[in-house]
Amino acid sequence: TPPLPAYKRILLKLSGEFLEGKRDFGIDPVTVQEVAEQVRDVHQLGIELALVVGGGNIVRGAEASAAGMDRASADYMGMLATVINSLALQNALEQLGLATRVVSAIEMRQVAEPFIPRRAVRHLEKGRVVIFAGGTGSPFFTTDSTAALRACEIKADVLLKATKVDGVYTADPTKDASARRYTHVTYQQVLEQGLNVMDASAIALCKDNGLPIIVFDLLTKGNIYRVVTGEPIGTLVSI
Ligand code: UDP
Repeated sequence: TPPLPAYKRILLKLSGEFLEGKRDFGIDPVTVQEVAEQVRDVHQLGIELALVVGGGNIVRGAEASAAGMDRASADYMGMLATVINSLALQNALEQLGLATRVVSAIEMRQVAEPFIPRRAVRHLEKGRVVIFAGGTGSPFFTTDSTAALRACEIKADVLLKATKVDGVYTADPTKDASARRYTHVTYQQVLEQGLNVMDASAIALCKDNGLPIIVFDLLTKGNIYRVVTGEPIGTLVSI
């Protein structure tokens, strides 16, 4: 018998960059497929799953605006990039036989449903994987904030932040050999020490709503499964 899940409803945040795989732009289909397989394995435990994917593999608002674009326009491009990634993930999940819905904060009726909170929750209850696309629908935000916001709205038990590093470190592990991984940090510590978890507005939202975050690495196959079955990997951010 499979292990019992530690959570009933989770929100998983993936960066767009992750979908690049070994490329330096865009979407690597093999990587998307691998992520989808990990999601399926978790879904089979009976966990309700919502996903938020970033857009950094296609457009990052801050970068486009540093290159001279108006920030809000650049951010809308970034939000559209998340829709592209969401459709790629949806496709990979459906090829594995999962029922999915892409729900967008920016209306695009041919490819995604508009975001209606109660409807999104209903999808989850029916076992559909819900992919929240289009960010928050507002410029000057990130998909980390989107993940925090949607997790609060759907009353997720935990926000899983999948990254390329295996948790939160005392310093940048790629630059400082003495850097150590935390098993637990408080929201306050993250904010005060400027630890690299998510942006401050996302952390503040989680803190205000008591939503725990687990930061873990998605490069290791099976890690989403490990987290949701309660294995102590990564770093827990909570009170
Ligand atoms: N974005 C935005 N509002 C949101 C979410 C995203 O304006 O609510 C834009 C922003 O420009 C951001 C881009 O979309 O740079 C892609 O998202 P993000 O950088 O968070 O993606 P990730 O780094 O996770 O791939």
